[in-house]
Amino acid sequence: MSADLYNPPDHFLVDDLLTEEHKMIRSSVRDWVNRSVKPIIEDCYEKAVFPRELATEMGELGFLGPFIPAEYGGAGLDYISYGLIMQELERGDTGLRSMASVQTSLVMYPILTFGSEDQRKKYLPSLAKGKMIGCFGLTEPDHGSDPGSMITNIKDKGDHFILNGAKMWITNAPIADVAVVWAKDESGIVRGVIVERGQKGFTTPETHGKWSLRASVTGELVFDDVVVPKEHILPYVRGLKGPFSCLNSARYGIAWGVIGAAMDCYDAALRYSLERKQFGKPIASFQLQQKKLAEALTEITKAQLLAWRLGSLRNEAKATPAQISMAKRNNVEMALNIARELRQIMGAMGITRDFPFMRHMMNLESVITYEGTHDVHLLITGNEITGIPAFK
Ligand SMILES: Cc1cc2nc3c(=O)[nH]c(=O)nc-3n(C[C@H](O)[C@H](O)[C@H](O)COP(=O)(O)OP(=O)(O)OC[C@H]3O[C@@H](n4cnc5c(N)ncnc54)[C@H](O)[C@@H]3O)c2cc1C
Repeated sequence: MSADLYNPPDHFLVDDLLTEEHKMIRSSVRDWVNRSVKPIIEDCYEKAVFPRELATEMGELGFLGPFIPAEYGGAGLDYISYGLIMQELERGDTGLRSMASVQTSLVMYPILTFGSEDQRKKYLPSLAKGKMIGCFGLTEPDHGSDPGSMITNIKDKGDHFILNGAKMWITNAPIADVAVVWAKDESGIVRGVIVERGQKGFTTPETHGKWSLRASVTGELVFDDVVVPKEHILPYVRGLKGPFSCLNSARYGIAWGVIGAAMDCYDAALRYSLERKQFGKPIASFQLQQKKLAEALTEITKAQLLAWRLGSLRNEAKATPAQISMAKRNNVEMALNIARELRQIMGAMGITRDFPFMRHMMNLESVITYEGTHDVHLLITGNEITGIPAFK
């Protein structure tokens, strides 16, 4: 099916809430996805290959670090622009959006927010251009939802630190030039550490056998007595608020991104249902198929409005972690349900790589787990309502 026929739903005229600049940015990402992603993504997925060259193109086009100020190589755009970029990238594939999310929110954001001026100047322009790839190490083999129990640690040796431990499930790890790693110091306080590829004792084995996010590369970060110069510590943050504020930024992008996957499924299912005939009529004329389409459009519309409002709040620095958490949780579930439900409209064709349903569905199984699981986000809302943290 030609990607050029794509007709994204906008039932509540959310477009009217966007500026001309927002629409221009969105159409430039959409065109790039049609041109550079759609033709190759099914092959990449089947072969479990991350198209590295697309990371460079994303950098050249300004899709990496869009809200990072221009003086550090970013585009200095607002958060709605960032959201729209994530939405269009995820319509292409969640793997590409994940790469861009990690680079922007989990690597550039902490260096910008918590880094020294030297660190900002050294890393941000190359990360923005996609010349350098970054990754973010928080999750450990034995500590996922509970990162506060991490055992990765740094020990002060006077003029440097020694880093030991391991991180797991790290997006971009095997291809990363630089890693932002969270480790405890001798007092048990979480610190941010910048580790560069090539440092002795630092390895990044790839994780194989994923049925989800196959066009994204995932791996471990292993630290065996790695010497970390003192100037590689992020000076302006201590404690879990460091990684949590990065996750907030990334979750915000996910709340938008998954709408792109849902709209891709909706568009393909609607078109097919109008063309495919059974019992002498288009399957779109049957009430049960209309129910699936009507419910999908309703849920997409609610997600679009939630994302837009969240973006407006974030632009005014008013979006709370609990609001971001709710939007991530709601929108990911919405997209996963739509991929599952609308795949059925396709009948047998829906399970093939000729259509994006199974790929989006499998990808979204990671998204519902990473950046805080679906369950944990529910408990964050529960905590907000009651003041009682049920996750502890
Ligand atoms: C493809 C992929 C890419 C990833 N990329 C990164 C990355 O770049 N960087 C990074 O640091 N991490 C990354 N992750 C890791 C991800 O963030 C973790 O998988 C996630 O935080 C959950 O941790 P876990 O898998 O150890 O599950 P666990 O924490 O072991 O949870 C297992 C189950 O128990 C539930 N559970 C846990 N605690 C509670 C509780 N208190 N109450 C109720 N239920 C609970 C969870 O909801 C879940 O259903 C990635 C994961 C995937 C799949």
